[in-house]
Parts: sequence; C-alpha cells; structure tokens
Amino acid sequence: MSRAIADSSSARFGFWAILGVLLAASVSDAQAAEYLTGIKWPEPKIVTPGEENRLPPADATVLFDGKDLSRWENGENWTVRDGIALAGKGYIVSKDKFGDCQVHVEWSAPTPPEGEGQGRGNSGLFLMGIYEIQILDSYVNKTYFDGQAGAIYKQTPPMVNATRPPGEWNTYDVFWTRPRFAEDGSLQSPAYITAVHNGVLILNHFELLGDTPYHRPPEYKQHDDQLPISLQDHGNPVAFRNIWVREIEPIVGKRTSAPYIRDGETGKKTFLKE
Ligand code: MG
Repeated sequence: MSRAIADSSSARFGFWAILGVLLAASVSDAQAAEYLTGIKWPEPKIVTPGEENRLPPADATVLFDGKDLSRWENGENWTVRDGIALAGKGYIVSKDKFGDCQVHVEWSAPTPPEGEGQGRGNSGLFLMGIYEIQILDSYVNKTYFDGQAGAIYKQTPPMVNATRPPGEWNTYDVFWTRPRFAEDGSLQSPAYITAVHNGVLILNHFELLGDTPYHRPPEYKQHDDQLPISLQDHGNPVAFRNIWVREIEPIVGKRTSAPYIRDGETGKKTFLKE
C-alpha cells in the first residue's frame, strides 16, 4: 500500500469515527434525562474588560489614572508626577463610597529602600476607610507576619509573600464583602476579603474579626453600607498608579418551580425537593 492511499483511508476512517461519535452523542442527549434548576436567571450584563487585565473594565470607577488625585480628599497633599502618585502628608480618602467591591491598586515601594520592618515602604489600602490590607516593602524585609504586605493588619498574614523588589510594581486585586449590621447595631455577618497579589492568591475569603488598629484588638462598630476607600500615609513615599473599583452584586435569579428532572423522551418533569 502506498503512503498516499494509507493516509487517505485513515482520514476516511477518522471521518466516519467522528460522525459516529457525534450521532451517538446526539441520540443519547435526546434520550438523557436533564436536571433543571427551576430558576430563571437574568442574562449577565456585558462588561467590556480593559485592554490588559490590570486596566479598568468599562464599569469601573477610576480613582486614579495617572493624571490627578481630584477624586480624593486631601489629594493636594500628595504628589502626582509622571503618571504616578506619591504618598505625601496625610491619608487620601476617595470621594466615592463603596460597599461590596473589587479594588485594583498598583503600588511600588521606594528605591533605594530606606528603613526596616514597618518603617520601609509602609502604606495601606483601607477598605471602607476602616479595614487595612497592608502595603509594605516586604521584599527581604522582616517584620511581624500579620503586618507584612498583604496582611490584614494584626489579624492574619498573607498565605504567601509575593512582593516584588522595591521600584517594581506590585498589583493588588481585592474582592471585598462588607460586614452587615442589624438595626440594633449588632453584627449580622462579618466582612470577607479575597486578595490576589501579583497574580498570586494571598487571602482566600478571609473572615475579618473587625477593624485593624495598632493599639487594641479588632472590633466591629456599626457603620454605613457604603464608605470611602483610603490610602495610608505612613511617612514613606510609596508610589501608586492605576487605581479602580468595581461595585459588585450577586446575580439574582427568580425561582419559578422546584428543581426537576426532565425525561429526555417524554418531557415528563419529576420535581425534586428543594
Ligand atoms: Mg500600613
């Protein structure tokens, strides 16, 4: 058998084999029972992503795009140059308020590095102005672990240390679920945070114990559902760029029946207990 004939006959065999599989699959699909949830879902909104994942998607609130800090209270006391903002005197506080949200921040520790421990490249991202995920030059810089970069300050260290060297850009992508309070002020559900540092998961649905002060244990105090984000001045000129926030809410479906199994042949529905 010549090579050409062998090739064409195996190609023909491949065609019939694939057709056979497809026919078998469609027959079994038609006959298979199917599970249906009984929930009518709205179509998820289309969000055009940024050209790169670090750039703001179409539905983001852009808090700093390199031009100015006009969306921040006290922005005039920080320095903006060459598309970056340098931490200056006092915290900056966003004029917008957020509840559950996704936050993207890029930061870079001063180079050459100065100081050590908590004194080196210290800033912080405060969700709702209350709950700090630490920003610190934690590249070859030892400090208490629940105070290093990516820590929820004094509550938990990050699972791993993904900090880049000073002068390089770090990214935080933070997924925040705010705490819920009952009308009497008691805590209904705690805050949760998931965070990715330079593409590395560092906090996985961590349950916050409360706020994050230096001088006392964490506690929850009732507050508004939406509050500003703030960035810390800790005396170190940490650089920032590309800061944006997306408000998030779960997609909500409407239950139209109990879940059921639909018989593939008869179409008969067998309802299941929810
Ligand atoms: Mg800090």
